[in-house]
Amino acid sequence: MRRLVDSTRWRFIACVVVSNLLSGLVSAKPIQNMVEATKSISRGDYSVRVEESGSGDIAELLRSFNRMTAELGSTEMMRNDFINIFSHEFKTPIVSIRGFARRLRRGGLTKEQQAEYLDFIVEESERLSKLASNVLLISRYENQKLVAEQTDYDLDEQIRTSVLRLESQWAPRGLIFELDLPRLPYRNNSEMMEHVWMNLISNAIKFSRDGGAIFISGAQENDRIFVTVRDEGTGIRPEDLGHIFDKFYQGDSSRVSVGNGLGLALVHRIVELSGGSITAESTLGKGSTFRLELPATPLR
Ligand code: ADP
Repeated sequence: MRRLVDSTRWRFIACVVVSNLLSGLVSAKPIQNMVEATKSISRGDYSVRVEESGSGDIAELLRSFNRMTAELGSTEMMRNDFINIFSHEFKTPIVSIRGFARRLRRGGLTKEQQAEYLDFIVEESERLSKLASNVLLISRYENQKLVAEQTDYDLDEQIRTSVLRLESQWAPRGLIFELDLPRLPYRNNSEMMEHVWMNLISNAIKFSRDGGAIFISGAQENDRIFVTVRDEGTGIRPEDLGHIFDKFYQGDSSRVSVGNGLGLALVHRIVELSGGSITAESTLGKGSTFRLELPATPLR
């Protein structure tokens, strides 16, 4: 979302800079080219480039102009990508809900089919509602610079509670948790941090094989807290690993599973906002490890 604001701000700065420069220089040919190019940019065409000719200030200006349009083009592309993916992710469940509802209305289905279709509708509505709340949370935390409503609490307790809250997802599949968590006094917005644990732990559960183990450990050194969440599940392909914190990115293995590729983007933003860092390591087929480092009391 910040990119959208950045993009608009860039466009504004670009127009002011370019029009100021142009007012005193409109006679030169390269500058006239730039005037034409600026018109294309104002129509939303960022592919336009000017010929980089001459020397001195004008040549530098032409080079900067081309760099700027390239930059504008890439932020615009990100904006379009975001909107395209966002609308696609929203439309898909709505279309299938409509399809199942119409089929149910038409009648003539067995009891089992009716139950199956209703389950699909519930599942898709849950997906939609999760998507909406994740998009709202990401946009809220991306626009936020400070962590509001900080309280003192024990991080280890919050992690244990998150594991328990997800029990209905792991207990029936025979997964076991091994927790090595000493007391970790911490200060932050606890509601915001809960999203971190819920997302990391539910991913560990989702990508584990039935009967597998998940390990969570914590430690404190001076003013730093370290937490590791490790599973022995499917693992992440090396080509996916660099993208898992991107919005809407879903690795190959999870295309079919429930999710929207926003969980880790949200986790990353929250950790960043809290003055910490998060990294992931993974071996395909062997499992994944997420390591967090957090200041015990956030800097801001
Ligand atoms: P999703 O809603 O798909 O889980 P996330 O943003 O939480 O979205 O994760 C992005 C992608 O990272 C997932 O689609 C999956 O490919 C990969 N991933 C995240 N956590 C794990 C994990 N513990 N094991 C294997 N893959 C994972």
